Amino acid sequence: MNVLIFAEQIDGHFKKSTFEAITYGNDIAKTTAGQTIAAVLGKVDNAHLSELANYGADKIIHVNNDKLNAFVPEAYAKVVAEIASKENASVMVISNTYTGKSIAGRVAAKLKAGIASGVISAPDTALGFKVRRGVFSGKAFADVNITSSIKVLAITPNTFDIKQDAKAANITEMTADVSDSDFVTNIIELNRVTGKIPLTEAEVVVSGGRGLKGPENWHLIEDLATALGAATACSKPVSDMHWRPHSEHVGQTGITIKPNLYIAVGISGAIQHLAGVSSSKVIVAINKDPEAPFFKAADYGIVGDAFEVMPKIIEAAKALHH
Ligand SMILES: Cc1cc2nc3c(=O)[nH]c(=O)nc-3n(C[C@H](O)[C@H](O)[C@H](O)COP(=O)(O)OP(=O)(O)OC[C@H]3O[C@@H](n4cnc5c(N)ncnc54)[C@H](O)[C@@H]3O)c2cc1C
Repeated sequence: MNVLIFAEQIDGHFKKSTFEAITYGNDIAKTTAGQTIAAVLGKVDNAHLSELANYGADKIIHVNNDKLNAFVPEAYAKVVAEIASKENASVMVISNTYTGKSIAGRVAAKLKAGIASGVISAPDTALGFKVRRGVFSGKAFADVNITSSIKVLAITPNTFDIKQDAKAANITEMTADVSDSDFVTNIIELNRVTGKIPLTEAEVVVSGGRGLKGPENWHLIEDLATALGAATACSKPVSDMHWRPHSEHVGQTGITIKPNLYIAVGISGAIQHLAGVSSSKVIVAINKDPEAPFFKAADYGIVGDAFEVMPKIIEAAKALHH
């Protein structure tokens, strides 16, 4: 079966989750003797487009229309669904990012396809087309069988490995049939966090909670993050009190992350916080209360005062990188 992957890009660069999606789609195409096709919308140069071939894309379809440089879900969904039909794709793979989430359902509706979002397994095609998805903020799983002839899978970022499968870059430029009526919303202004590692992409995250007492102590989180090349995060009360921006708030009502290493400093480990971080590969909790719930979810725990422990860890992390 032909597999079409929506290759998400920001300012002409692909995200890590895009390469994960290409690898995921390529594995399905290979086992079903189909083609791995990537759809790229907006301005991306050929050097970057070719990167997708390194992970197994047989064909890269590029729609370079100025109107698509900014992400508008309705227009993007229309173009992606059009490409899927033209390429006879039976499976569509989209990364379950903010962007991916806002087009996956729309694309499925246009293609009359069954959809599974938050997918965390490769499809089991032994008896149908079964995939596992995370539900209830990651506290449970659901195995779903998609029975429609076209299937849309929105896969959870940071769940699947990226694998090299170098092919010749076969880039096709395509024009899209978009009109003003496809742009029911317009982007007026884009404000991006710059110069920082995006939380959802970070391999290591250092996170602080109310135990840090106030924003004036955040140098402890930032210094460790800098030493480890990590992103910074926080608990909900911390962002509610404006100690840190809301873009750093992780948990049930914030961002869900799955880094390789999550270091929680002065965070109790409430269930709503854990909902956003419990899928991290390794969790380290630093808390002065030995009964703090975080220790039950953590792989490593340090019982101690953050103001004593953190300077020592920062020093050790700095020494490691010199
Ligand atoms: C509907 C709903 C949704 C929610 N969504 C979220 C969410 O998305 N994300 C989220 O984080 N929360 C969320 N919450 C809030 C959540 O229930 C907790 O209240 C919150 O996570 C607690 O934040 P905290 O651990 O930073 O603070 P606290 O609960 O106050 O914990 C502070 C911790 O720091 C420790 N500590 C204190 N001093 C030190 C020190 N010197 N050194 C080391 N440790 C120290 C304490 O022992 C304590 O464990 C939600 C709540 C509700 C009801």
